[in-house]
Amino acid sequence: MAGAVVPDWVSTGVRAMFLMLTPNESSFQKVEDVPQYVQQATPFFIGLMVLELVVGVLKTGAPVVTISDGVTSISAGMISRLPLLLMRGCELTAYMYLWNHYRLVELPWDSAWTWWFTLLGTDFCYYWVHRFAHEVSILWAAHQVHHSSEYYNLTTALRQSVTQQFTSWIFYLPMALVAPPSIFAVHIQLNFLYQFWIHTELIRDLGPLEWVFNTPKHHRVHHGRNIYCIDKNYGGILIIWDRLFGTFAPETDKVVYGLVFPIETFEILYVQLHYYLHLWRKSNPFNDVSDKLSTFFKGPSWKPGKPRLGDHVDNPKVTGQEVPHDPSWSPPLQVYVVTHFLLALGTYHDLFQNKMMLSQLTILGMAGYILLTLTSLGFLIDQRPTAAVLEMLRCVATVIMQRYGFMKPLLPFLAVPTEAFVSLSLLYWALQGFSQLLSIKRKAD
Ligand SMILES: [Zn+2]
Ligand SMILES: [Zn+2]
Repeated sequence: MAGAVVPDWVSTGVRAMFLMLTPNESSFQKVEDVPQYVQQATPFFIGLMVLELVVGVLKTGAPVVTISDGVTSISAGMISRLPLLLMRGCELTAYMYLWNHYRLVELPWDSAWTWWFTLLGTDFCYYWVHRFAHEVSILWAAHQVHHSSEYYNLTTALRQSVTQQFTSWIFYLPMALVAPPSIFAVHIQLNFLYQFWIHTELIRDLGPLEWVFNTPKHHRVHHGRNIYCIDKNYGGILIIWDRLFGTFAPETDKVVYGLVFPIETFEILYVQLHYYLHLWRKSNPFNDVSDKLSTFFKGPSWKPGKPRLGDHVDNPKVTGQEVPHDPSWSPPLQVYVVTHFLLALGTYHDLFQNKMMLSQLTILGMAGYILLTLTSLGFLIDQRPTAAVLEMLRCVATVIMQRYGFMKPLLPFLAVPTEAFVSLSLLYWALQGFSQLLSIKRKAD
């Protein structure tokens, strides 16, 4: 709109984050016309994260987020979206298939009733996606990623699973019998975006809104590992589903965040995949087939002879005095990790912007490079013995990618400094790697 104080894209983008779009401006006839609200939200994610950091420091005197945990959470968010470079989301693909072949009625796409019905339906289905993700171990193996931070701030919202999308689509299918895919494609995004701002400790209580909506207060309970928090408050936008189905718990004691058994690592593939291995190992000693199956299909706390969801009383007790795992590391290394993380974020952003113009092979190569980078940075944060060698290999890959044009620099004028920086890093890590190899060899001798 000409002359507007706030540009349209900013107004729409901000309002999309808080479920404040009208049916009129967010109903579309074709799926192809639906905006990529989530992809376009990057600047608003960053803006709100910076705002939370500043307000947090002013309010409490300390930052609400640490570098190690924040980098790991945002990395998980990036990895969770890499499959979308090569395919449309599973949720929408399955939905469209069912709609095209088996729909029972066709609600009009341009009616506000359809929009509101789909909002409610999507949120109702999300409640069940989420509840199953907590109550069935093989689904929890995917969803535990989101709960693996011992902190609770806006970066935690982005800590998403890469594997969850391959099963969550099943739960939305009933809606595909009646509601048009183009409207579902809007609400699946708005539902996700709404859940961003509720990941904060800075908003304590929202009065009467707490009755109906999922709020920071309710969702803090969901992320707790106190016994009263386990398997509670699954709602996405609305908390009424939890009140209806008996899974609601109000916030009482100080919430201690994270997994019942904290993983204490920032290695990104481990964060994503470790629980699958854990389940396999848990099932191995059982001779009984039903016990083996129960390991995968009953709750994560289930043990033979226990009820379906196990007995939470058996879990470690929390005292409220727990200190989150946060390794101490040198300031130069912190600067190094943050700089390279921002470069990877730039590459990731570029890749999504330009994916239509790139070959599948280039996309795969660049996605692999991003994965390698985030893995290597996780190794550095963890200060693993192999970190220097892996980082050295990654620096070689970076130089090759830049030399052969797979990767554009963020801004042209940054090309030379970037390459100089990467080359210096390479030299530094080469020296580190060699000294480490020598010391390993010396130990072996
Ligand atoms: Zn959850
Ligand atoms: Zn959450």
